[in-house]
Amino acid sequence: MKQFRTESKKLLDLMANSIYTNRDIFLRELVSNASDAIDKLTFLSLTDNSASLADEDLEIRLSYDKDARTIMVSDNGIGMTAEEMEENLGTIAHSGSEEFKQANGEAQGSEVDIIGQFGVGFYSSFMVAKQVRVVSRAFGSDETYVWESDGAEGYTIEKADEQRATHGTDVILTLRDEPEKATGEDEEAEQGFDTYLSEWGLRDLITRYSNYVRHPIRMMVTKSRQLPKPEDAPEDYTPEYEDYEELETLNSMTPIWRKRKQDVEQDDYDEFYKSTFHDWDAPARTIPFHVEGTLDYYALLFVPGRAPFDLYSKDYEKGLALYSSNVMIMEKCSDLLPDYYNFVRGVVDSPDVSLNISRETLQQNRQLRIMARSVERQITRNLQDMRDNDREEYEKFFENFSRGLKFGIYNSYGSKADPLADLLLYWSAREEKMVTFAEYVAAMPEGQEAIYYVAGDSRERMAKMPIVKTVLDKGFDVLLCTQDVDEFTFQAMRTYRAAAIAGDSENKGQDARDLELKNVTSGDLDLASDEEKEEAQKATTEHEDLFSALAGKLGDKVVKVAAAANPSDAPARITTEGPVSLEMERVLAQGPEGMEAPKSRRVLELNVSHPVFQKLVAAQEASDDEKLALYAGLLYDQALLVEGLPVDDPVAFAQNVCSLM
Ligand code: ADP
Ligand code: MG
Repeated sequence: MKQFRTESKKLLDLMANSIYTNRDIFLRELVSNASDAIDKLTFLSLTDNSASLADEDLEIRLSYDKDARTIMVSDNGIGMTAEEMEENLGTIAHSGSEEFKQANGEAQGSEVDIIGQFGVGFYSSFMVAKQVRVVSRAFGSDETYVWESDGAEGYTIEKADEQRATHGTDVILTLRDEPEKATGEDEEAEQGFDTYLSEWGLRDLITRYSNYVRHPIRMMVTKSRQLPKPEDAPEDYTPEYEDYEELETLNSMTPIWRKRKQDVEQDDYDEFYKSTFHDWDAPARTIPFHVEGTLDYYALLFVPGRAPFDLYSKDYEKGLALYSSNVMIMEKCSDLLPDYYNFVRGVVDSPDVSLNISRETLQQNRQLRIMARSVERQITRNLQDMRDNDREEYEKFFENFSRGLKFGIYNSYGSKADPLADLLLYWSAREEKMVTFAEYVAAMPEGQEAIYYVAGDSRERMAKMPIVKTVLDKGFDVLLCTQDVDEFTFQAMRTYRAAAIAGDSENKGQDARDLELKNVTSGDLDLASDEEKEEAQKATTEHEDLFSALAGKLGDKVVKVAAAANPSDAPARITTEGPVSLEMERVLAQGPEGMEAPKSRRVLELNVSHPVFQKLVAAQEASDDEKLALYAGLLYDQALLVEGLPVDDPVAFAQNVCSLM
């Protein structure tokens, strides 16, 4: 018996550890080797006239024997001589054992991932097999050799007793024994290896991992058919069936993403999407593209028609399927998608990404980065197109996936605002429909220097807020934001960069500019004219004693009481100083228990021209302390109610109202 080389032994050890997570890939590896062997023969036939081949005869055969616990993968490809067996199977991924060692050394602890993502070729058979036999006859030779190993120490190569009829290779795995029924919770362990000894088990692996291999993968399958009805069948004849065997091609061979867009019906894309990604609904958008250049790849992306139920849960895994030369390398390659496009599903296929780790890992990452960048660009472009040309569909999309886009801006501290901000829609209080920032800006009157918004949980209530009405009356639109992430997104953005508007001679146009995003409930709204401001300042000084008395009555509920510079028809309202708005305070208060949520700095602004204000002045003049406290509490509470916030003490509020009456 010959000994395996050291690195092969290491790899075999890894296999043993990887057995529960990755063992399904063994078939993919054997099938892709068989497919490679056929390719090599085809290539040879192009240069060597003696190798005239009928294309349709080239195939990969799959079979299993339940009793003997064997699986066989056969091909009629180029085959191997005894020397080639020695060289190719005696050491791992013969071309790349050094690279493997390197990658393995660097990736301490993540070996299992290496196996799962890139495969380790032929040796992965030992994850499921206790013994592997390779029977091969090289093209142009009439001798058949057998390579055999139990995967532990070494292997043997001998001349076969029985010759193969044609060139090609049979790989025969004798599966390991069923594992002992696990005593623990490990469901994987319970599954055992018997699934591989069934038609559906093998079919499942082929359609999952090798569906788009160029050559047919055929298996003898058992089917059932109805027997013809006998002439003299009685009235209550029940149809009879018989089983029969048929050679079936399991794989679909040509991947839909390699077909040209104009050659594919949308129905076919929809079917592919539904069956591959297990969705009942057709996708909202299908994005096929092909890039040629230093890196050659095909991609087929889908924007789902609705959010998967677990999209916002911790368990949701983003990613695109990664194929190399029609063989799936990874089911969900997360590096190909940014988090804010995590809802996108699809496939990326590049012959330049190697199936084995036998190439440089760094280069791999560079390729992934390049592909990820253009994937992102394509998604953005398609969403923009949907936004501009199919607003109804886009609004549906937005309802499903806006949270992710907004979080994308928030999580990147605003650095991803371009291009994400322009994909956002908000409810315009004036237009009463969803608008983009750009549309908001385009409708701004001269003199408006900020984008106004308010956040809360009900559009209807926000539309009725006095301050919103005040701003609308000034001719400025207000965006009504109902998602808890909205204000945090705005704080991360701080400003929206409005594009330049081309100008002609009459209309001077507008340079690109940054417009501040302003919550209308913040104190520094700066909407009032200088005159109004001056007046408010005067009123505040004039009634200084009254205001500080009121502030005293309210205690730490407010930081101050002041005259409103741009009053509405309400007697009082609450604004805030500093970065925390009332709505943010509400959202943050729902944070984890025990966490001290930041509080807003509230200001009670009074409308000095409102009749109620004169009552306050009168109470102050009469030194009626009790009444002053009552009024202060009432005005504060009703201002809160108008903002849609709960009053601190509803019982006290009710009592105050009663005592007033
Ligand atoms: P890789 O496919 O990346 O080269 P593998 O470990 O999968 O690595 O296979 C090692 C080598 O064994 C292949 O390169 C090939 O030369 C040889 N080989 C494996 N399977 C076959 C087969 N079915 N027919 C011919 N050669 C094969
Ligand atoms: Mg291989």
